[in-house]
Amino acid sequence: MSEVVATRIRDAGLRVTPGRVAAIETLEALGGHQTVDEVARGLSERGVKVARATVFNALGDLVTAGLVVIADAGPGPTRYEVATHDHHHFVCTACGSITDVPCAESGPMCIEPSGVDGTVTEVQVIYRGVCASCAAAES
Ligand SMILES: [Zn+2]
Ligand SMILES: [Zn+2]
Repeated sequence: MSEVVATRIRDAGLRVTPGRVAAIETLEALGGHQTVDEVARGLSERGVKVARATVFNALGDLVTAGLVVIADAGPGPTRYEVATHDHHHFVCTACGSITDVPCAESGPMCIEPSGVDGTVTEVQVIYRGVCASCAAAES
């Protein structure tokens, strides 16, 4: 188990468990935006036998601690990614691929809301369209 990852988990105020370390390591190794099932599959491919529920709980704990974020890409299974920088997502309506899009301004509040009665803490924008490879396949 990676001492670096263990330290990150500890610094985030969580108890270091093999499930949490394995979940974040697998998410990092896979990259991008992964579902619970994809992380569980990635773990078993690495020879780590963890129940799906354990993966689900570990990811949930990591989200609460801010080490992992839920990538909002619209309907479908919840997708997780390692928390790095604030960004948005471009979702291809043809193949479902999800690509990171940098914020217009840096920081979680890149779009100032107007007419919101309450406190906004986060903005996630979903851009939808057709990705370059799908557009190329169509023409
Ligand atoms: Zn596509
Ligand atoms: Zn992302």
